[in-house]
Amino acid sequence: MILDEGADLDAFSSAYGLTLLYPDTYILLPNSFEYKVRKLLKIYETKIKDKVMKKEDLDLNKVEKVFLVDSQNVPDLIKNVPIEIFDHHPKKNFSLNKNVKKHLYKTGSISTVVVEKIKRKKISIDKDDATILSSGIYEDTGGFKFKGTTPRDIKAFYYLFKSGLDVLKLKKIVTDTFDLEDTEILKEIIKNTEPLITEDKKVFISSITKRYTKDIAWLLKYVKTFEEADAYFLVVNQKSKKVIIGRSKDEKIDVGKILSEFDGGGHPFAASAVIVGFDYPEIKNFLLSFLLGKQQSVLNFLKNDLPVVESNVKIREVKNILKDFKYAVVVEKGKYVGVLTEKVVNNAIKHKLENEDAITFSEEMITIPMNTNFIQLLKTFSSYNLEILPVVKKGYYKGVVYKKDFINFISGILEDKPVFQPISKPKVLDYSNKLREFFPKDIFNIIKEVGEYAEKLGYKAYIIGGVVRDIVMGKKSLDIDIIVEGSAVDLVRNFAKAKNLNFHIYPEFMTGNITLENKIKLDFATARKEEYESPGSYPRVEKASLFEDLYRRDFTINTLAIEITKSNFGKLIDYFNGFVDIKEKRIRVLHTLSFVEDPIRILRGLRFAGRFNFKLEKKTQQLLNHAIEKDLLNFAPTGRINLELNLTFNEEKVIDILILMDKYKILYKLFSGLSVDSVKKELLIKLKDNFLLLEKLLNTSFPKASNYLYILLSGFPLEVIFNYLKKYHFEKEAKYINDFYTNLETISQTQEKFKIYQTIKSFNKDFLPALLTLLNEDKLKIILDIVEKEKNPLIKGEDLIQMGLKPSRIFKEILDDTFKRYLENSLKTKEDALSYIKKKYLQRVENEDTDSRR
Ligand code: ATP
Ligand code: MG
Repeated sequence: MILDEGADLDAFSSAYGLTLLYPDTYILLPNSFEYKVRKLLKIYETKIKDKVMKKEDLDLNKVEKVFLVDSQNVPDLIKNVPIEIFDHHPKKNFSLNKNVKKHLYKTGSISTVVVEKIKRKKISIDKDDATILSSGIYEDTGGFKFKGTTPRDIKAFYYLFKSGLDVLKLKKIVTDTFDLEDTEILKEIIKNTEPLITEDKKVFISSITKRYTKDIAWLLKYVKTFEEADAYFLVVNQKSKKVIIGRSKDEKIDVGKILSEFDGGGHPFAASAVIVGFDYPEIKNFLLSFLLGKQQSVLNFLKNDLPVVESNVKIREVKNILKDFKYAVVVEKGKYVGVLTEKVVNNAIKHKLENEDAITFSEEMITIPMNTNFIQLLKTFSSYNLEILPVVKKGYYKGVVYKKDFINFISGILEDKPVFQPISKPKVLDYSNKLREFFPKDIFNIIKEVGEYAEKLGYKAYIIGGVVRDIVMGKKSLDIDIIVEGSAVDLVRNFAKAKNLNFHIYPEFMTGNITLENKIKLDFATARKEEYESPGSYPRVEKASLFEDLYRRDFTINTLAIEITKSNFGKLIDYFNGFVDIKEKRIRVLHTLSFVEDPIRILRGLRFAGRFNFKLEKKTQQLLNHAIEKDLLNFAPTGRINLELNLTFNEEKVIDILILMDKYKILYKLFSGLSVDSVKKELLIKLKDNFLLLEKLLNTSFPKASNYLYILLSGFPLEVIFNYLKKYHFEKEAKYINDFYTNLETISQTQEKFKIYQTIKSFNKDFLPALLTLLNEDKLKIILDIVEKEKNPLIKGEDLIQMGLKPSRIFKEILDDTFKRYLENSLKTKEDALSYIKKKYLQRVENEDTDSRR
């Protein structure tokens, strides 16, 4: 008799029953059992000892017949012997060999069927047999509570009961009890649960670092998200190693195969592996890349074309070598030492150091090991912005990976090309009058003066970016950015001091700002090139021309500049045809790798498209789709995603933007599985209405992001919502999500207006719009009624004082009672309320008064 890996009580007890029916059969023990089976085996160790057999003791030649219980997975090792299958699960679709006979039943447990056979054949059983057999029936019918329970299960159980089953022992086997350790671990698992992004399956992962002394597998079914997932992984951190447990319900996600990459074992549905030398993010990335079918490694990109020089080669020789190359790798007897760049070598020569050794100036550059996987490679490139990554194995230089090759691969694009050929001579228009019309007089004057100052200092200054776009569109905008060819820091300091204005400067970033008397802020930046980190990873900001500054921007519509320097005041400068793109309502990136360089631009692009009702230009749309497909957003810093989502939720056209984000599968990528279907869309529209309604009613505003997030994520398991909110740093929203759903449930389940009132009163008002959105119309009306009545109560404390009552404990009781009746419409006017209070309370209060005086 063969049991599946991880066999449960029903599997074991039915197998045990068959050994009673056929005394010559043995139970072939799997490597792993469910936790409860292990409890059973311990209790009945001596009884069971002679009926079981380990795999290594099995002599296949002696097998005459095989029974398979509670499963239909015929193991490979069985060939050409008759197989009988007893199962109560639905039939699996595979072709049966002639030697396989299936007995499928619609009972709650398969042990039921075995007990019926025992009864029919009048095989005598003792109380231990009865207890063992009952455990399968009890477990698989959930103590007769599961939907699949049939009268046959109850009858069979009754038979066992009459045969003397030991209820206390049964209880011991079937009840899960949690001790403190179990609960702590469960808490940690739930807290750490997060989705691994996959296309259309739901796969989750979690990890624990706390020590757990028992086998953890049995606990996992209490994690709701895991139970509902198609597959999940748990990483157990132990001192020097990590254990990964994988479970799957879907044969397309073969956890056995995935974990075999870590030399693990198991089968498609349950497997585990022990690994050393990987940290959790790496494991996550590995699993992710595997699930996405993207297991690429360094080897796919490794090149060996850079010159390699020994450490004692002279700089002047390196100079020669670097004629054709940008980098030379420095080694000492084959071992990697560092990298020499053309720039460093030129500098050394300028300082007459050409006779120094290569090693003197070689810069230590971040290296990667040979076994770096695709995802790690992506992360390294995106976090360091390096052109090359030397590959090192045991200290020896093995070659180099070029960012260009790597990005070509992920973006599928051959080279970074401008989408629009930049014009060497920009188009120019006179916008001086437009400026005067656009800005309030005081601001206009300040801008003009800044321009005069800049000219005096020998600089050029421009207003730039969003505000210029808005000027061209004729839209209000007061977010003023100024770019200086020269030194922004100098300009800010000089101008602000002269005009006695508040200012801040940030010399390391070459930026600054000035706050005007009317609190409006002018932001200044020095025109700069792309910021990057040098091999030694010092952040470097390089001064540049206006053109270079514009070329690193996101979309053509944001690249317009208006010069404010005195002699050119009002000159609109357009290098990238941004003007025409604005007029023709087009979002266009400047070059093909724009989204790869900064994936946040994906979100920005759709935000602008939604806000202005612009279309993505065709090529831009392709590039954006590509970037999304390659999952680049998952590698953007979550802090920036937080900022961007906040901006999105605060846009007037938020729903249009969300629909666009949905169309491009961005929501799906950010929050695995999320889509804006017609139901969600309706909820979003309802939410927007509720904002208006409540803001008008209460004359206050509500935080947009909080409420939009709650509505967008509604329908996900609670812990997943919690983890997403945490992931993207929505701390307040994470803190209140539990209460939110508790209150939502309380309100949905009661008809008592006063109880609803109390529930709302006790909860954070910020989330009221979302709460209303998830309730039905009736409740919405009730709550609006409550909110309105709360704003205009029939009576207040001061009315009671006027009635001659003294503030005391009973005040609250009276106010609550009257308010309750007001809500129920049994009191409608102030007069009603006053006479009601007189009748009900005045006498009592007077009595209490005299009581207390006595
Ligand atoms: P808004 O009206 O939303 O403020 P904006 O265009 O002013 O729109 P900001 O976020 O204020 O947007 O950024 C100012 C300018 O900085 C942009 O116009 C754009 O030129 C540039 N910029 C901002 N973010 C990026 C980015 N991720 N990549 C490239 N350029 C960017
Ligand atoms: Mg702006």
